[in-house]
Amino acid sequence: MSGAHEPTVTLNGKDVLLFCSNNYLGLANDPRVKQAAIDGITEHGVSVPASRLISGHTSPHKALEARLSAFLGTETSLVFPTGYAANLGVIPAIASEGDVIFSDALNHRSLIDACRLSRAKTVVYSHLDTGDLATKLHAFPEATRRLIVTDGVFSMDGDLAPLDQLADLARTHAATLMVDDAHGTGIFGTQGRGTPELFSVESDVDIWMTSASKGLGTFGGAISGKRALIDTLINRSPSFIYTTALPPHVCSATSAALDVVEQEPERRRHLLKLAGHLRSALTEAGYDICESQSHIIPVRIGDPQQTLDVADFLIDRGIFVLGIRPPTVPEGMSRLRISLMASHTDDHVEHLLGALVEARSEFNLSRPNPCPPPS
Ligand code: PMP
Repeated sequence: MSGAHEPTVTLNGKDVLLFCSNNYLGLANDPRVKQAAIDGITEHGVSVPASRLISGHTSPHKALEARLSAFLGTETSLVFPTGYAANLGVIPAIASEGDVIFSDALNHRSLIDACRLSRAKTVVYSHLDTGDLATKLHAFPEATRRLIVTDGVFSMDGDLAPLDQLADLARTHAATLMVDDAHGTGIFGTQGRGTPELFSVESDVDIWMTSASKGLGTFGGAISGKRALIDTLINRSPSFIYTTALPPHVCSATSAALDVVEQEPERRRHLLKLAGHLRSALTEAGYDICESQSHIIPVRIGDPQQTLDVADFLIDRGIFVLGIRPPTVPEGMSRLRISLMASHTDDHVEHLLGALVEARSEFNLSRPNPCPPPS
């Protein structure tokens, strides 16, 4: 592929409409965000090749951490090289043997790896099932620390964690609540703070994880929360301590992206409006879009090979959507994962819809079996 993540990109020499980018707000190629990166390179070079605790901590890192905390309304924040590194860094730093982590069955792989690394007992509760979570919380009264971990927006299904109920359960059971809002930051909530804002639980989220490489269109991860948490991470997170600092210009770009998120709420409004329209139209056309409530819309095909065939059919019609198959999703759940961008227009979405309607008759796609029960 070549070209920035705009609605049209060039794939193997052919112009296609891009429907599989996480550049949700269309900021990856925004002139203001790019200029901030260019200024950052001019001042700091392309990298400061050292870890943060050696000589890699620069003013753009400090500024981004302050900017992000002001945006989210948290006491403080810590920038990691990626969202993956942030998740790997935080869970093992605060949970270990004797602790119990309660993890949603469809949590992102980085959270699963982080739980394993921590050596705490991990109890998986059924996807979005707060009843199951409550039962499991009751079953471990002796745990030293209890940590509830969830994605805010689930990356493959596009559904949302019931954060209001999770916050209630965390309060009742004196558990710590961690939300990975990689796909929600900049998009949900009146101010764009993400799913904690949407559910009005900002002050209940003890560990608030964000990734800049999705809605913000840049790169890097962060953990936001109380000063004591961040101090712990600075001293105890190997994926913060023993890795090279994120290049300063990337931090500058992310700070600029946060400015745009604040100044241009119409981006997220347009994105969510397009998403609402596409979800209803796909359901009307007979497609199973699981329980998507967001700009991530799975179109469940079921069979892995047929999923690839439909993706190829779409490429022939100038549409780039990737097929997602096991092990990324459970057996029987292969799907096209559509992700929308604020830079898409109504016409782009109509083109996609038309091709998907055509695909239904071309492939004789009956509705796949109902989603398997969550595990
Ligand atoms: N959490 C979730 C829910 C994700 O989907 C991803 C990446 N797809 C990550 C964490 C990792 O973030 P990053 O890409 O910044 O490493």
